[in-house]
Parts: sequence; C-alpha cells; structure tokens
Amino acid sequence: MTNVNTTISGSLPKPVWLAEGEKIWAPWKLSGNELLEAKADALRLAVLEQEMAGISIIGDGEQTRQHFVTTFIEGLSGVDFNNKKTVRIRDRYDADVPIIFEKVYRKKSVFYEDAKLLRSLTTKPIKFTLPGPMTMIDTLYDNFYGSREKLAFEFASILNAEAKELSEAGVDIIQFDEPAFNVFFDDVKNWGVSALEKACEGLINKTAVHICYGYGIEANIKWKETLGDEWRQYENIFPQLAKSSIQQVSLECINSKVPMELISLLENKEVMVGVIDVANNEIETPEEILKVLNTASKFINKSKITACTNCGLVPLKRSIARRKLEALVQGTLLFSKS
Ligand SMILES: [Zn+2]
Repeated sequence: MTNVNTTISGSLPKPVWLAEGEKIWAPWKLSGNELLEAKADALRLAVLEQEMAGISIIGDGEQTRQHFVTTFIEGLSGVDFNNKKTVRIRDRYDADVPIIFEKVYRKKSVFYEDAKLLRSLTTKPIKFTLPGPMTMIDTLYDNFYGSREKLAFEFASILNAEAKELSEAGVDIIQFDEPAFNVFFDDVKNWGVSALEKACEGLINKTAVHICYGYGIEANIKWKETLGDEWRQYENIFPQLAKSSIQQVSLECINSKVPMELISLLENKEVMVGVIDVANNEIETPEEILKVLNTASKFINKSKITACTNCGLVPLKRSIARRKLEALVQGTLLFSKS
C-alpha cells in the first residue's frame, strides 16, 4: 500500500461570524482586535475540520485573508488602495484594483504569525499559500514600473523574503498560486517561470505551484465554455515547469476537460491531482475520486501524487466543504489501497 497524501489547494469557507458565507472576497464583519482574534479562531477551526476529515497535509484555509492576492499586497508599501482603477483580470472580468505609485516594499512579514499559529495547531506537515508574481501583477494597476516583467521580479524578491520567513515558522510546503499561467503563455515562457523560480530561490522547504481554471464564479464558468472539448492550456506551460526548480505542480482534473496525459509533460515532478470540484455542491463519491486518481497514475508514479481540491473551497457552504474533505480522504484511501 502506498499512502497517498491529501491536501486542500488553499481556501476553505469562513465561519459566518467572520465574513458573509458563500461569497468570495466577502468583507470582514469585525475590526481591530476583535477581527484579529476572530481570524485566529477561524484558523483553529479550519485546522480542526481538516484533521477530523483526515487530511494529511494541513493548510490555514486562508482564514485570515479576504482575497488570495490583495491581502498580501495590503502588507506592502508603494501601493495606493484608496484610488482604485478598473482593469481586466486575466482577460476575463473587470475589477477595481489598487495602483502602484512607487517602488513596492515589504515592511514586515505578512503571514509569519499565521504560519506560526498554524504550526502550533498540528503535528502534521503544513502548507502555506502565497500569490505568484504573475498573478500579483495581474491584480494591480502599475503606474511606476512600466514593465510587467520588471514588476514581476520585484514581487518575486518580496515573495522570496516572505517565503523564507514562513519556512522559518515551520512551513513544509510553500505553494504559489499562479492562475495567470493558464492565460498569458508568452509571458510564462519569457519570464513567468523564471520569476516564480526567483520567488523559490534558496528555500529549504518543498515548493509548489497551483495553476487552475479559477473559482466557480460566473466569469470563469463562461470562460471555460469557450475552451472547447479539450483544455490544453497546461500544455503551454508544463514543459517549462518540468525543467524548473519547482517541485510540485497542481492540476484541475475532476469535471474538467484537461487531458490527463498532459501530466507526462511534467516528467518527474510531484503532482497535486484535483479530485474535488469547487464549482458545485455535489459530494464526490470515493469511487469517482478513485477513478480520477487511477487515470492520473497512468502517467505518473503513484508515490508522486497528492490528492487535492481543484481550487479553493471558499465559495461553498461549510457543511458542503466538510463533506467534500471527507470524500477526498475516503476516495484517496481507496486509491492508496488499490
Ligand atoms: Zn485555484
């Protein structure tokens, strides 16, 4: 029997006393010290729920962040959050984003305390997520650098410093979220993977990259409808990732049209196989999950697979998310035994 690991890609739903439920990027319901305390409590619950489901690599469920990119950017100077500008995100939907008006600078660690708390709550390996450099620049309006590449490398240095501190806090896997990799293929080729490698430079912990087709929001669902019968986006980026220093790569698999043979392009990387759909309320059966994992294992050694969610679970009801986590563990157990 090969014990196959399970983990979440990043976010979990937040308790209703912290932020409105079933909503992405929901504003906080509290402020000041009350908010700090409530965020820490939510993080404790997120760990408890993963432990109870039997998840083997534990995350913070992103309970302390309103948004997977902007919460990190809020911790930096050089960014104006008061005068926002409307930009097109990943060529898909408009959003009001903050403006960079001078050199960006990380005043202090953004997530170190959260990582320390997470470390204190479990003896299992822990994973922490950070936004990737390319996805960060795609969520901002640049009024200073004048070059996407230059700004991406600036962010890469900042992320590297942050990641090193998370590593000191005891984080085992640092995952960079790069959904933008599925859209800007030329940028990925020219500087995207290099910027990501710079963010990972010198890290002693394991590094991972999460590339997905996004949360189950309207704009993403519509975009997916335009992608045809086979989603071959990963084909553009995997060969380069295979040559990179990144150790683990995630794939959206269940209910997606990603041809599983694309895993072969990753050569000997570890792979996080998405077996939980984040865009519906159906609870996957262990057999469905086993089927996806079995297909994946035709293209990669079982020992290199971690079973994962397709993307973040934050938009779901908590009761649904809990059951999906249980299914993830049950299905993976069948696979481990097979
Ligand atoms: Zn995702």
